[in-house]
Amino acid sequence: MDFSISEQDRLLLESVDRFIAHHLPPEEVRRRDDGHIPPYDLLPAMAELGLFALPLPSEYGGLDASWSMVALVQERLGLHAYCAASIFNRVVGFGAMSILTYGSPAQREELLPEIAAGRLLIALALTEPSAGSDASALSTRAIPVDGGWRLRGRKVWISDAEGADLLLVAARQPGTEGAKGISLFLVPPKAAGISMTGLPKVGNNCMPSFDIGFDDVFVPKDALIGEEGDGFANLMSTLHYSRASMAATVTGCAQAAVDLALSYARERTQFGRSIGKFQAIRFRLADMQMRVDQARLIVHHLAWMISQNQECGRQASQAKVIATEALQYVTHHGMQILASAGYAMESDMQRYWRDSRLYTFGEGSNEIQRELIARQLGL
Ligand SMILES: Cc1cc2nc3c(=O)[nH]c(=O)nc-3n(C[C@H](O)[C@H](O)[C@H](O)COP(=O)(O)OP(=O)(O)OC[C@H]3O[C@@H](n4cnc5c(N)ncnc54)[C@H](O)[C@@H]3O)c2cc1C
Repeated sequence: MDFSISEQDRLLLESVDRFIAHHLPPEEVRRRDDGHIPPYDLLPAMAELGLFALPLPSEYGGLDASWSMVALVQERLGLHAYCAASIFNRVVGFGAMSILTYGSPAQREELLPEIAAGRLLIALALTEPSAGSDASALSTRAIPVDGGWRLRGRKVWISDAEGADLLLVAARQPGTEGAKGISLFLVPPKAAGISMTGLPKVGNNCMPSFDIGFDDVFVPKDALIGEEGDGFANLMSTLHYSRASMAATVTGCAQAAVDLALSYARERTQFGRSIGKFQAIRFRLADMQMRVDQARLIVHHLAWMISQNQECGRQASQAKVIATEALQYVTHHGMQILASAGYAMESDMQRYWRDSRLYTFGEGSNEIQRELIARQLGL
């Protein structure tokens, strides 16, 4: 297998570094985290770099790049500024790939160029108070009416709902249950009948979460994306993109945590020596770097499988589990190495550690991923 970085990849990564240095230097990342400021304003600049166009076909203004290149960008953004990596994933790994995979030709024509230009952020409105891991138990209804449907129900934990241009809402036909009868609709967040309340939470401050009420929200026929009743299968068909995206970005963030712990271990002196000379610290750091390298290997193997159009559901679940648990491992040990310096609010380590808590249950919990892996092993 070829792990070399092509000249084209290298140039793109240099552009990403320049973008970060200009728009998201460390103090700006901290300012946004402190102020709970999402990076929506950076979408046009990211689009100008061509980032959102990477995996799109040229007929829709895309660059036809391989998923391996996408994964390199995700990892690099995650290394410097998780908030930028996270919004990139939602625009590309979720929004673009959903429209590309099951949107109608008219929807692709209309929406993909908007995505490439950084003008379209889509938020997924799937989870409900009684439908978390068991998403197919959702009860929001899409009641057929003249010219379309009326949506009735409630969604929770919807990231970026207020700042999004469209919500991708999963709702079921009355009288159906389970995965069958669920349809997907693209709905403007300001449509009449929608109410939103922000949900206070721990960390990931640049990604606000919302509770959304749908009170007889009218959606016209052309808001349907994918065939009526096929919504759940359509959502499942793109999960490998979003899981691959999360795995790549948390791997970048995990490397940032290791780099920070390494530089602290070199600089901090106790008992007349740098703490990096103590075996307990040296072995901890060696284990941390090994965990990140393992995650990186599976992330790039998965990206290669996606680029080759290979079936990769198991590998996507594995990458999500390995990378998110690697991040938790290295931030847990990173806090121990930095000790009080990591505990200080001004430390980046406390942010990495705090934010890492979400990823083993967000984007499909790691228990559910293990269940999927076991199933694919024939159990
Ligand atoms: C910050 C944040 C952002 C989010 N963003 C979005 C979003 O944008 N859009 C959206 O639709 N949703 C979003 N979610 C929801 C997220 O996808 C759910 O939290 C996730 O699916 C888990 O559901 P739950 O929290 O209800 O946990 P539950 O399903 O109640 O699970 C609780 C525990 O039980 C375990 N468990 C459940 N079933 C099984 C099983 N069969 N076997 C073993 N263990 C099991 C779980 O792994 C977990 O540990 C977000 C959540 C958070 C916290």
